[in-house]
Amino acid sequence: MQPRSWPVPVIAGNWKMNMGPDETRAFFEAFCRLHAPREDRSVWFFPPALSLHAALEATAARPDLRVGVQNIHWEGAGAFTGEISAPMAVQAGARLTLVGHSERRQLFGDTDETVAARTRAALAAGLTTIVCVGETLEQRRAGELETVLGRQLDAVIDALAESDAGAPLLAYEPVWAIGTGVNATPDDAATAHGFLRGRIRERAGDDVALAIPILYGGSVKPANAADLLAAPDVDGLLVGGASLEAESFARIADAPAP
Ligand code: PEP
Repeated sequence: MQPRSWPVPVIAGNWKMNMGPDETRAFFEAFCRLHAPREDRSVWFFPPALSLHAALEATAARPDLRVGVQNIHWEGAGAFTGEISAPMAVQAGARLTLVGHSERRQLFGDTDETVAARTRAALAAGLTTIVCVGETLEQRRAGELETVLGRQLDAVIDALAESDAGAPLLAYEPVWAIGTGVNATPDDAATAHGFLRGRIRERAGDDVALAIPILYGGSVKPANAADLLAAPDVDGLLVGGASLEAESFARIADAPAP
């Protein structure tokens, strides 16, 4: 696995299907004034693919801010209408990607197998790749937290451990906390992150377990960011709604971290 070329914690904004090129330019104009470069953390953005170019231009003078895409296909090219490939994303300037977000799993049919294939392709192309895992409320209530997280992690662990081009991260995003305003408590996050770290250690050894940062995502706001960052095994935050507004995301990006 490549040594990391960026600091943790990682604070990442997933814009989902929001922010066209015009809004992207306006966002960065404000955000770059509010958030100064820091060496003690990484700040990343996942705009829609159509706004990638605008985001790259707007951050050209800010090498501390990195930009990526929200999903990639496992093939390099071909008859896959509406998809984008990892080599294309790299050619367009993306350095990062998300894979396996719960919206992709729930709304667009991603399975553990397709998430693993996407992860492999993304890492092979040299993309820094955040693989998202997380349980639904029903699964949590049924006591299936570890079964679900274990299954989702086991599907990608070989791809993560064997990657020698791109760098892998995990994001624990409980589905019941995404966009609901109900965040996991720092204790909930620590429990899930501790389980994931232990499972990576079991499957791939200590070096790999320590090399893969685990971010928390789900209703992160300026008011809860510092507490979540202080939880054991939380190496950063993946932020949806609160990353769409420059001021709130700047407050999260500058939240105190241990
Ligand atoms: C997300 O979709 O990755 C997310 C964490 O969303 P929100 O912060 O809006 O819950």
